[in-house]
Amino acid sequence: MSEQQTTSRACTSCGGAKGRTVDTSHDGKTIQTWQTCTPCHGTGIQGGGI
Ligand SMILES: [Zn+2]
Repeated sequence: MSEQQTTSRACTSCGGAKGRTVDTSHDGKTIQTWQTCTPCHGTGIQGGGI
């Protein structure tokens, strides 16, 4: 019963991280690209950006 919750609910998809880094191989190099979370529209908040 001690689950912390901020005023807004964190996105369940990204956990409030607003997105995630995806590894992309390019010319033998691994590049990390930031991919904005789609469900929360990069807000990190569930149902945000609407
Ligand atoms: Zn999200």
